[in-house]
Amino acid sequence: MRAILTYHSIDPSGSPVSVDELVLRRHIAWLRSGRVQVVPLERITDVPPERDAVAITFDDGFANFDTVAWPLLRHQDFPVTLFVASERVGKDNAWGGESAPGIPTLALVGWDALRKMVRQGLTIGSHSRTHPRLSQLGDAELAAELDGSADELAAAFGTRPTSFCYPYGDVDERVTAAVRTRYARACTTELAVLPTTPDLHLLPRLDAFYYRSPGRLEAFGTPSFRRHLWLRATARRVRAAFRK
Ligand SMILES: [Zn+2]
Repeated sequence: MRAILTYHSIDPSGSPVSVDELVLRRHIAWLRSGRVQVVPLERITDVPPERDAVAITFDDGFANFDTVAWPLLRHQDFPVTLFVASERVGKDNAWGGESAPGIPTLALVGWDALRKMVRQGLTIGSHSRTHPRLSQLGDAELAAELDGSADELAAAFGTRPTSFCYPYGDVDERVTAAVRTRYARACTTELAVLPTTPDLHLLPRLDAFYYRSPGRLEAFGTPSFRRHLWLRATARRVRAAFRK
């Protein structure tokens, strides 16, 4: 079984974008146990489907990635992709100038710290420029978010990002088509392991928030893991249907 793990903020608030440092430490202990192979995001789809492999991603680029998560991950030599919204680097996660209910407003990592981590082996992916809901943008604005972000990240790091992550997981056919022409792969917020033949521009992920309890992630590949995942994904689909 292959899966892409995703984290946002490592903090003790208990918010939907947060997991506690102790949870991350427990996940890392399991990842280094040898039970699964930890591979770069760019390679996870090349791993044969029957093998157990995980790729690690972080969204948004919180300052606590630099201070808490990266030192732990780097210590294990784990490949990590961090998705940043280029226009928000060094600012905060009050996207569009507004805090979201139930989500703490936290500092985002700055360019100097990002450059330091890239030198140390971190891979940067694009999370757009300003973190909007892409499906609500006109064609020109959409192109500006996708190209502008890649341009700014290329200027900062000397290499163009090849991976994209849809802000809020907000995606439709037009958005996916625009991303396909610019990036090699893209991650969603769909809660699932990788299917046998994944669409490279609609890669599902496992949000670490749902794997906070001891033993949850560690059950990777077992029938109980799949049952829990199915229940979580179904509950999320039902909630999303009610919100529409
Ligand atoms: Zn985000």
